[in-house]
Amino acid sequence: MDVLGVEALKGLRKGKDAARGARVMVVGTGVTGLACARALPKFGAETIVTDLKGGLSPADREIIARIEDAGAKYLPLSEAEGVAADALVLSPGIPTDDERLIELKTRAGAWMSEIELAYMLCEGRILAVTGTNGKTTTATLAGRILSDCFDDTRVAGNIGDAFIEAAAGSGPETVFVIEVSSYQLEGCFSFRPDVAIELNVQPDHLKRHGTMSAYAAVKARLLTRMTESGTAVLNADDMLVAAMAKGTRAGVLNYSVERELERGAFLRSGRMVLRMGGEEEIIGDAGEMKIKGPHNEGNAIAAAVAARAMGAPAENIRKALKDFEGLKHRIETVGFARGVECVNDSKATNPDSTRAALKMFAGRAVTLIMCGDDKGFDYGGLYADIEAAGAKVIVMGAGLARVADELEARGATGVARAADMASAARIGLEITPEGGALLLSPGSSSFDMYKNYEERGEDFRNEIRLAQ
Ligand code: ADP
Repeated sequence: MDVLGVEALKGLRKGKDAARGARVMVVGTGVTGLACARALPKFGAETIVTDLKGGLSPADREIIARIEDAGAKYLPLSEAEGVAADALVLSPGIPTDDERLIELKTRAGAWMSEIELAYMLCEGRILAVTGTNGKTTTATLAGRILSDCFDDTRVAGNIGDAFIEAAAGSGPETVFVIEVSSYQLEGCFSFRPDVAIELNVQPDHLKRHGTMSAYAAVKARLLTRMTESGTAVLNADDMLVAAMAKGTRAGVLNYSVERELERGAFLRSGRMVLRMGGEEEIIGDAGEMKIKGPHNEGNAIAAAVAARAMGAPAENIRKALKDFEGLKHRIETVGFARGVECVNDSKATNPDSTRAALKMFAGRAVTLIMCGDDKGFDYGGLYADIEAAGAKVIVMGAGLARVADELEARGATGVARAADMASAARIGLEITPEGGALLLSPGSSSFDMYKNYEERGEDFRNEIRLAQ
């Protein structure tokens, strides 16, 4: 089912009353499911939550209690299948083609993501950000700029608060910054931001999306419903993103950190220049920023251009860029031990994010700690960067053991293997010379050893603290 399904959605229009009286079935009892359970009853929707799990653990029962406290109802899948809902909301972790959804989808008027439903319910203007890497950094920056200019600025989506909760109480003056993942975009059909940023499309999530072109097509869904009054901010340095200009009616503003553009934003002697209709405006100064590296310059330019398109004056943009300290777990210096700078980049969960981190230590002795699940990534490009940088590598845990084998097969010597973070940190501090850097930039997700990337990053921080 696609757009037609949404148009057929009984009683749902755009605005805060769009779901009043509608029966909405939410699939998933994680962060998104709970947010829907809390928010939808307030919008007047009869809210039913179900999930695809078989049995219920004690933790599940606690969640069900929270769902019912919020005024929603929980039904096990077998019972939910007998209910005809006006709309089915799929949590992002649930593959949209999961066979266990067939019955629910057949009975429902339409299925969608929580972002799509929140869009129907919200009022105000929207700046949306997507991309494989840099979404949270860019959305945070855009949020800082816009909250300086507009009183009711709300940053939500994949970044923290769910969009559906942020949508409550919004009005025409509300400005949203919404971080959107590809999983959420799969269920977007009418979602139309006023300004959209496409940062990059790099290999990740291919188990779900199949191929890079299918993945890029999902990312491009952010732009397909936009009209001439909207602005698409596209990374001209990324081929797959640059090609998206053809698929949108929105006005396109490209940005590049590699070259000057006829129309769009670029760097000239460190300053961010926005050139439109032959006129140039300085909208920021990369040299003043605390966050570093070409990838962060790209993120910052994208946030700056998008904020400008939302109506932020250049002076607010420049100030917010200058003040931004960066985020935890993203190339975050956690301290120095034995003269070695220890850097936590636990959020680097794919090869390109690790490559971006490694670039920042060019010319310095660097030891890279890699770890995580084996998601089948091709690390060839990263290996070449490691060799060019003369970096040492420690592979922690069993998940990415093949990385050590593959590096050795390429002729690397001295690749270390560590069972846990304590030994990875100990070895790292032994083999990295004073003045060098010990960089945890795993290149894969954390679930082999941790609950999430934050826990992995905190483990690293703790080990460094102990070593100081
Ligand atoms: P996301 O929300 O898309 O995961 P984050 O801002 O949280 O993005 O950053 C995730 C990881 O990607 C961090 O390791 C960060 O240093 C790295 N990163 C940030 N921006 C980029 C970019 N534009 N290109 C490549 N890597 C990036």
